[in-house]
Amino acid sequence: MEAKINKDIYDIAIIGAGAAGMMAALRGVLNNDRIILFGGNSKDKKRSRAQWVSKVENIPGFTIYKKGVIDPNKETLKFIEDSPFSENLNFLKGAGVEEILKRNGYFSLTTDSGDSYDAKYVVLATGVMDVQPEIEGSIKTIFPYANVQSVDYCIRCDGHHVLGKETAVIGHTEDAAWVAILLHERYSPPNMTILTDGKNPEYSEKVKKLLKHYHIDVITSGLDGVKGDKSKGNLEGFYFCNGSYLPVDFAFISQGMLVYNKLALSLGTDTDERGFVKTNNKGESSINDLYVAGDLRANTKKQIYTAWDTAVDALDDINGKIRNRKREEVLKTI
Ligand SMILES: Cc1cc2nc3c(=O)[nH]c(=O)nc-3n(C[C@H](O)[C@H](O)[C@H](O)COP(=O)(O)OP(=O)(O)OC[C@H]3O[C@@H](n4cnc5c(N)ncnc54)[C@H](O)[C@@H]3O)c2cc1C
Repeated sequence: MEAKINKDIYDIAIIGAGAAGMMAALRGVLNNDRIILFGGNSKDKKRSRAQWVSKVENIPGFTIYKKGVIDPNKETLKFIEDSPFSENLNFLKGAGVEEILKRNGYFSLTTDSGDSYDAKYVVLATGVMDVQPEIEGSIKTIFPYANVQSVDYCIRCDGHHVLGKETAVIGHTEDAAWVAILLHERYSPPNMTILTDGKNPEYSEKVKKLLKHYHIDVITSGLDGVKGDKSKGNLEGFYFCNGSYLPVDFAFISQGMLVYNKLALSLGTDTDERGFVKTNNKGESSINDLYVAGDLRANTKKQIYTAWDTAVDALDDINGKIRNRKREEVLKTI
């Protein structure tokens, strides 16, 4: 198929249609701006946190959804489609953005099928992904348990699941140790163990003292297998390379995040030491008119409601700029 070059210039291109991207699209459409929304190709989707979220228990009214980002996003698209603002949105569902350039005051975006689109403003909402443990040579070993909340990643979303459960935290850093300490202090699970999966623990003296005081054991042997009922997602325990076994009902993964900042970096944005994109308080990056919303933005809680809030801040700021420009034109004529 021949690649398309679109002569239209959209007001705003939104890259990513997870929690932040969909809220950005909704806000932009209701602000009466012309939006093009790129949903990501199948690889982008599979690697996104949006795809992993199942039941959401920390947002009022959300427990009705089986998939807490995907399901409400579908409803939102339907609402836009049926609304008088439907013409404001061009949603390219399976399109991943491969390249982004800034020239002559516009952004030019090229998709993985070679199509190109121009926009005056861009909102990057490509998100992040939690690093998975590699067990039996594959990151997939843990998936049957992760998809049904026997293995979780996010304290604010799912920390409460450890109540009454024999729990393990997988990770070797000081951050992972703080996850174990926080979960112990908040919920006093019957047992808490840190699994460093063959890596040396990196703990300060303060953390070492707390781990000892709270009887949080640290197992440094590599992970060699998972015991449990895959079909039901019931976790029973972990096998280690030294031949030992630890029974647990629940595990938290705390191995850091992969930050999907490739497009931001290609434009030369400032990032923090972990790769999250730095912005002002409206979400504008160090590149004029390039905004960032959701998990990709530095110094935010990595949550659905913060993804929404950062998206609204960005879209309202852009709308302010669009209206200002138009107002200046009007003022010249009166
Ligand atoms: C297992 C799990 C459970 C969670 N549970 C909760 C919870 O209960 N409550 C809560 O508040 N938060 C929860 N979170 C966190 C929440 O999922 C994230 O904070 C939220 O999804 C972030 O939104 P985002 O838009 O930044 O990224 P995402 O929602 O991950 O969306 C990223 C989007 O970018 C797209 N994309 C990526 N690259 C490209 C590209 N090049 N071109 C086009 N599109 C692209 C992807 O396809 C995807 O649509 C959970 C996370 C995980 C992993």
